[in-house]
Parts: sequence; C-alpha cells; structure tokens
Amino acid sequence: MKCETDRNLSFPMRNCSGKRQCFLVKEAGFDDMQRNRKSTQPHSEEGGIRAAEYTAKEMKTLLDHVSGMYDLVRVVDPIECRILEFGQDGQVSRKDRCYGIWNANQKCVNCSSALACRTGCHQEKEESFEDRLFHIQSNPVRLKMPDGGSYDAVVELVSIDQKGRGDSAANDRAAENQDYRAARHQAQHDYLTNVLNPDGFSELSREEIVKNPKASWVMITSNIMDFRLINTLFGSQKGNEVIVQNAAELEKIARMGKGVCGRLGGDQFAVLLSEKMYREELLNSAAKKLKEAFSSGQYTFCIHFGVYHVEDPSLPVSVMCDRANTALRTIREDHRETVAYFNEQMMQKSLYEQGIISGFENALKDGQFRMYLQPLVFEDGRTCGAEALVRWHRPDGSVTMPGDFIETLEHAGLIHRLDMYIWECAVKQLQAWDRTPWQDLFLSVNMSAKDFYSVDVYQVLTGLIDRYQVPAGRLRVEITETALLEDPESGNEVIEKLRQRGFLVEIDDFGKGYSSLGLLKDIKADVLKIDMSLLREIEVKKRSRIILESIIRMALALGMEVVTEGVETQAQLKSLKEMGCRYFQGYLFSRPVPAREFEASCLKGEQ
Ligand code: C2E
Ligand code: MG
Ligand code: MG
Repeated sequence: MKCETDRNLSFPMRNCSGKRQCFLVKEAGFDDMQRNRKSTQPHSEEGGIRAAEYTAKEMKTLLDHVSGMYDLVRVVDPIECRILEFGQDGQVSRKDRCYGIWNANQKCVNCSSALACRTGCHQEKEESFEDRLFHIQSNPVRLKMPDGGSYDAVVELVSIDQKGRGDSAANDRAAENQDYRAARHQAQHDYLTNVLNPDGFSELSREEIVKNPKASWVMITSNIMDFRLINTLFGSQKGNEVIVQNAAELEKIARMGKGVCGRLGGDQFAVLLSEKMYREELLNSAAKKLKEAFSSGQYTFCIHFGVYHVEDPSLPVSVMCDRANTALRTIREDHRETVAYFNEQMMQKSLYEQGIISGFENALKDGQFRMYLQPLVFEDGRTCGAEALVRWHRPDGSVTMPGDFIETLEHAGLIHRLDMYIWECAVKQLQAWDRTPWQDLFLSVNMSAKDFYSVDVYQVLTGLIDRYQVPAGRLRVEITETALLEDPESGNEVIEKLRQRGFLVEIDDFGKGYSSLGLLKDIKADVLKIDMSLLREIEVKKRSRIILESIIRMALALGMEVVTEGVETQAQLKSLKEMGCRYFQGYLFSRPVPAREFEASCLKGEQ
C-alpha cells in the first residue's frame, strides 16, 4: 500500500487497513483554508511547523472528507479525555469519554493523542482491545473559536483489524509499515541533501526535546553570504554542490552532538544541538573548511551562524529558528564575523516585533493605520501631487512611524495587506478630489518588494481605479531601488504592464543602494526619486555634487522626471534647481500630514 503526505491537511496520513486505497486529499476549498492558515502563522515561514488551525466549519468539512477512509475519525480533547462535537454556531462542545473503545477502563495519559497534543507532532500507536487491533494516528490541531480564542485538540484517524488473521495479514502489515516508513522518510527529508526538510526538522527536533526533558539545547541556523552569486558566477550545479557539502558539514556536527540537522530552504540550514555538546569551535572549523573548498579568485565563500541558547524548550521550533536567525542577521553583511548569539536586546526586539504582528489584524480592522500626505512641489512652488505615507495611530494616542513596523510586516508576509489598504485610501482620496479644483493632483503610493510575491499588483491596482473611476495617470506607484534589485526581471515585467495601463511608475530611494546606475539601464520608469542621503552628501563632499548632478542629467536624458526627496533648506533647493531638478519633496514645504490638513495648508492657494 502507498502512503501520502497530504500538504493541504498538513499532517501525514496512512490508511492502515480496512480501506486500503491510497489517496491524496486535495480540493479547491482546502487550498483556500491553507492560505488562510498561513496568514495566521507568521513565524512558520522560516522553517518549522505548528498545529494547523481550523475553524469549526473547516473542521467539519475536513472530517466529512476523511471519514470514508478510516474505520473511525473523530476529534478529541485528550487532556479532558472527551470527544468533541461541533455546533452550527461554530461552538465546540465536549461529549462522551474518548477512551471508551480501546482503552476501556483507563484514563490514558500516555495515549498517542495526549502525546500529540503535548508535543504538537503527529503520533501513532497500536492498541489491542477485545480481539481487535486499533491503529491510531493522532494529529494535533488548533481550533479557532468564534470569540477569537483557540482550543488545542487532536484529530484521530483509526483503522481497526480483527486479531489472529494469520501470517498473510502479518506480512501485509510488515509491508505496509515498510512502505509507510519509506514514505515518511521521503516526506521528512530534503531531496537534494537528504537532511531533514523544514517539517521533518521541526518534528524531529520536537521529538528530541520531549524525549530528553532535562536537557538544555542550542538552536543554530546558518546562511551563506551572497549565495546567489555562486549560482550566477559558476552555475546552479556548483550551487548545489555547495549546498550538499554545507549540509554534510552541519550534519556531522549534529551527529557528533546527538542533534538534529535540517535544511530550512535555499542555503539556510538549522541544527538543534544539546547545549553540553556545543562549542563555537565546531562552527568556526566548518566555516573554515567550506571557505577553503569554495573560495576562488572571483568569490570569497563566507558562511554565518546564528545561535540561540534555548531557555524555554516548549517554544515552537520555528520560534527557536527565528531567534537564531535574528542573531544571524546582525552579522549577515560582515565578512569577518562567523557566529552571533541571540541576546537580551534581540529578545526585546523580537518581542516588539511579535507585538506588531499580533496587533496588526485588529489595527487594520479598527482603522488605526492612516494615510498621511506629503506634497510634491514643482519648481514654481505649486503643489502638483503628494506621496501617501502610512502612520499607525495606537489606541493609547501614540503614533508609530513606518520605519518601526514596515520591515516586520514584510518579514511576516503581511505588508501586502497594509499596502492594499493604503492604495485604496489613496484612490478614494483621488475620487473625492474629482470635480474639485484639485482634480488634477496625483498621489504616489509605496510598494514593497514583497507585494510582488503576495498579490497580483497589476490586478489590484487596476481593480481599484476601475471601482472608484479614477484615471490611471493620477496614481503613481513607487518601487524602491532595492526591491527592483531583488528581482529585476519580474519587477520590469510588472512595471511595463502598469505603464501600459497608464500608471506612472517611480523608482524610489535612488542612490541608497550600490548598483543604482546599472538599474537605470535595465528598468524603464517615468520618475526617478533621489534619496535624501545623496542630497545630504553634497554638503560635505564635493564629488557627491558632481555625481548627483550627473544622475539628474542622465535621468532627464533618459526621458525621466526627477524628484529629490528630503529637501529641508532653501540652500538645498537652490542647488537642486541649478542642477536641473524641477520637482521636490521635503520638510521645507511640509511634513507628511493627514489629508484634511494637506487640503487646508498645502493647497490653500490652489482652489
Ligand atoms: P519613502 O517612500 O522614501 O518616503 C519618504 C520618507 O522621507 C518619509 O518617511 C518622509 O516622512 C521622509 N521625509 C520627507 N521629507 C523629509 C525631509 O525633509 N527630511 C527628513 N528627514 N525626512 C523626510 P516616513 O513617512 O517615515 O516613511 C519612511 C519609509 O517607509 C518610506 O520612505 C517608505 O519606504 C516606507 N513607507 C511609508 N509608508 C508606506 C506604505 O504605506 N507602504 C510601504 N510599503 N512602505 C511605506
Ligand atoms: Mg516612497
Ligand atoms: Mg523615498
């Protein structure tokens, strides 16, 4: 018999007896559920699993779906030893005792479901009772309650065999077990390196931690600096070779320390190691070996490690990896450093970030995010448009600036929700100015690199201007230079489509990165927004003035309009005008302000 790991249901399932067909549950509805679940699990992206979340309605659909495949399917609360039932109103109620069938007279604290609930991992067990053999698969789930709370439970998939069927049944069982083990291995391992994949790593790490309750642990993550360069310079085969050898080195460390090694994705690996086996020297010598093997005249290999001394072993494995990664990120750009440790300051930052993520949904729903406008001023002093910038108005009256939450939302995969909201605010504002003296004003909205991956930006923006009947030319889209450098090909494709539909595209923060000039060659945009750091430099470095002047001249020659950001003084304005720049944005004219204030102060002479 074959076994399948069903990604949509997010737990491995095996049909042991009775119904012997193999199956793969996939339905349109489940894809949607999975997507919804993802959005509630911001930390799962850096590796690791958590019990899948379901509403009562989703759970009912799931049970209907799998019930024909097993002799018994039910949801239990293994702590209370009760079967759960789901009402029409989404409420969950506890019903009969769940150990009544195979474990008639005991409360089973060691049953597979109790273990699954405690460890957060899929568990299996066989139980005999009255000449019958019960194969129980216990899959932890988290039920989302209508009041916003959650309830940890376990889905039990049970196959029942009559005992004493003779040798052939036993052989069948052995073959099934072998098949199952092979499939489980495949489901848990990475195809290229044969170390554990993220789900497998998370599952086995959790098992190790549960098996050794007294042990202390370190979680290590690794990342190769500029790994993409290896693929670009030497081809993907060489890239694979590096990954395989990297995996081998780390697995060696894990094996020596009775730990667990996994590949979290791309060039990222993780090792869970018992604290007493950990020595920094192990990581330094692995780094040295890899450096010797893969550095060449064109490329210097550099690997970084982040280390988290696990204080609370009940934390999800994905959170442990996140913390190790937080430490790693602090030395990511540094050739000289190899190992960084998660510390108290990072802990504070990570708690702050968790607060942002957990408060995000409500804040969005409650309208705590507000669009501010900062005028874009023509050389004659006229306001010709504005940039839409977000501010987070907290219930306690404080205002959080975008610099304090945008990056966190990007990492958590939530930024597109905020961006789409602000885009809609901007389009609504443009509609409100329709048939007023300000009907020719444009608004520029910011776009994160992550938006490209999360939503069809073109569809969303065209959908908005169609719905609110606003001409595309009044909405400008700002894409940062760094976003474009991340993936110039898809960036260019989206830009081309947007421009053809009539939107104006602006390259934001130009000059902040390093490869700016190359970008101009490849990307056709309408406006170049020069980052304020370049402007600041002209006051202290003569060479910077020459560079800025050349950039302005070059952009104009390429048919682009140029805007300089961060203009604060008359002297800067004068210099910029001399250099040929005609559009400006900065505190000299106005700080970003709410739309009403923008109308009252920035547009007062323009009615
Ligand atoms: P940005 O798009 O380059 O926006 C310009 C930033 O420069 C704004 O900061 C603005 O307040 C600030 N600024 C403008 N003139 C001056 C000046 O004369 N002096 C100084 N010191 N600063 C000036 P803000 O509003 O804090 O936004 C920071 C960044 O956050 C933005 O940079 C943008 O990249 C991002 N951001 C803001 N709103 C959104 C949003 O809705 N979505 C996304 N994805 N990013 C946003
Ligand atoms: Mg901008
Ligand atoms: Mg900018």
